[in-house]
Amino acid sequence: MNTPYLRVLGSCSTRQSKNNDFACYTLSDKLLIDANTGIIQHLFDAGINPASIRTVLFTHLHPDHAMGLLPFIFQFHIQTGDLSHLTIAGPKDSIFRYVDLAMDYLYGELRGTEYEYKVWPKIIPLSPGDEIETEDFRILACEAQHAVPALSYRITDKQSGKVAVFSGDTRYFEGYSKPFANADILVHEVSLQLEHAENLPGNTRYRHSSIHDAVKVATEAQVKRLFFTHNTPEWREKCVTAAQDMTSIPVQWAEEGQVFPY
Ligand SMILES: [Zn+2]
Ligand SMILES: [Zn+2]
Repeated sequence: MNTPYLRVLGSCSTRQSKNNDFACYTLSDKLLIDANTGIIQHLFDAGINPASIRTVLFTHLHPDHAMGLLPFIFQFHIQTGDLSHLTIAGPKDSIFRYVDLAMDYLYGELRGTEYEYKVWPKIIPLSPGDEIETEDFRILACEAQHAVPALSYRITDKQSGKVAVFSGDTRYFEGYSKPFANADILVHEVSLQLEHAENLPGNTRYRHSSIHDAVKVATEAQVKRLFFTHNTPEWREKCVTAAQDMTSIPVQWAEEGQVFPY
C-alpha cells in the first residue's frame, strides 16, 4: 500500500516573496488543492507532469488561491488537446463564473472563427455536505466562513483510508471543526497574528483565523498533526513555537517544496 502524502507548492498569504508562492498543495500528486501563480513551474520542478493531475479543487476563488487557474487550463490543453478530461470543483456560487472568465480570457478571441473552442473542463459546483469521488479520493465539502463563498474539505485517500483536511480561508465558528474529526493531517490557515480572531477589527469582513483558532480546531477535532499555512515567512517560526505551547498535537509549518507523508 502506498503512503499518501501532502506536497506543499506554496504557503504564503497575500504577499509573495522569493521562493514563496501562495498557498497550494497536491495530495499524492493526484489532486491539486487551489492553484497558485507559479503552479506549472512548481509542478515541473517537483518532477510532476501537470497534465497527470486531472482534478483541481478550489477552496475559494480569491486571487491568491486561484490565479493559477489560467496557466493550469492552458498547459493542460496544450499537453492533452482535450479539456474534457479536466475536472474543476469549487464553491457553487463562484466556480462557474471564474472558469467562464478563464476560458473567455484564454480562448474568447477564437469565438466565431473556425477555431472556436467548444470543449470545456468539467465543472462541479459544491455546497457544504456534498461529496464527490475521484479515482483516488473521497472528498467532502464542508462549511467555511470567509469574505467570499468558500469551502473547507475533508479528503479521504481511498486506498489507505487516511484523511487530510484543509481549512481554506475561514474564520472559526461553532461546529466548524466537526467534519474534521480524527483526521490524520489538518492544514489550517493562520492569517491573523492575534490570539483571538474576533479581536481584530475588520475580521467580521475578511474572516480569517489566528493560531489560537487553528489550535482550537485541531484540539476539538482531535487531529493527529497540524500544519500551518497562509502567512509570511518572517512570522512562521514564532507562530509554530507559540502553538507548540498550546497543544501536544505536533505542529509545523507547511513549507513550500516539502513533502509530508501521512
Ligand atoms: Zn481568501
Ligand atoms: Zn488566501
